[in-house]
Amino acid sequence: MKLMEAEGREILARHGIPVPAGRVVSAPGELDGIAGPVVVKALVPVGGRGKAGGVKFAGTLEEARARVGEIIGLEIKGCRVRSVLVSEKVDIARELYLSISVDRDAGMALLMASALGGMDIESVPEEKIYRRYINPLIGLQSYQLRDLAGHLALEKPVGQQVSDIARKLYSAFVAEDAELLEINPLAVMPGGKVVAADAKAVIDDDSLFRHPGHREVEPDITPLEQEARERGISFVQLDGNIGVIANGAGLTMATLDALGLVGGNGGTFLDLGGTDDPEKVKQAFRILKKARPKVILMNIFGGITRCDTVATGVHEVVRSEGAGAPVVARIKGWYEERAREILKDAGLITATTMEEAARKAAELSREA
Ligand code: GDP
Ligand code: MN
Repeated sequence: MKLMEAEGREILARHGIPVPAGRVVSAPGELDGIAGPVVVKALVPVGGRGKAGGVKFAGTLEEARARVGEIIGLEIKGCRVRSVLVSEKVDIARELYLSISVDRDAGMALLMASALGGMDIESVPEEKIYRRYINPLIGLQSYQLRDLAGHLALEKPVGQQVSDIARKLYSAFVAEDAELLEINPLAVMPGGKVVAADAKAVIDDDSLFRHPGHREVEPDITPLEQEARERGISFVQLDGNIGVIANGAGLTMATLDALGLVGGNGGTFLDLGGTDDPEKVKQAFRILKKARPKVILMNIFGGITRCDTVATGVHEVVRSEGAGAPVVARIKGWYEERAREILKDAGLITATTMEEAARKAAELSREA
């Protein structure tokens, strides 16, 4: 689970790492007094907010409110900004980089640090990054910390603070079951004090039962997607005009690809999963219809699922309430002949191969 910066900072603070004071607001009006200059930062679970206009400075309350208004509602890398962190502005003399992550190949945690902070670590030259594995049985060692300060060529008081922060970062990493804890920039202030001016945290999903407090970042979903989710149906809305209904994530994706290859445009896709419960099929169709596709392309493979039971659900819904659009159905597997009869009887266009079905659907979507 990716945490927002505000929660990442809470973790750092809990483990004794200095972080600037700040608070979360979701509207300009929520901001009352501020003491001195602040930085207003978009709370989205992605990096690169600075470049995307999601990090802005303000000197007065009015300015701060204006920045809050500007940043809320922005879309950064596909994430809508719903709240911001208004934080005491740190005077930064130097930006460093510090992180600990899980290195799956090595089977160990990896400590990374660089004197070139503030930019994406991916764009820092390899030789400018200090990397050391942390043996899980003995933890981060003092010699590694001394070594770190030396590599970054930090003057003594700064080096000591950075080492201390790295040590605390590792205890936070272990205690919080993190996959990544990243401080970029780790800010060195003009007076030499070191503070974490950003905090990125990814927590191992399998450990969440041990950390019940985390706030899940709400994904951006449409009202129809929400409705489907409440009914236990996986449904995604896209830009095209062909509604795809298939069973299993793999077949659903393959169907979208097949459509793409013949110039069709998937508009929604719906994964029936392993169900052949006619009631569930009916509900799935109803959701799909609400998205108003021009054509519906149904691609069912019945391995365990019986094709004829799926077909019965479709038949019932089409007969009782109409499909709302022409339906091209390709159904393959267990009891497929019977299924095709049922679908034909419901007035559906049937096809035997995925390609044929995709072509027919694409043609119809152009005519409609
Ligand atoms: P990111 O772009 O999503 O990683 O967001 P950051 O929090 O790292 O902010 C981007 C950049 O804005 C940083 O590298 C800093 O240069 C600058 N920045 C962020 N917070 C502060 C602050 O408190 N004071 C100053 N002077 N600069 C800041
Ligand atoms: Mn950053």
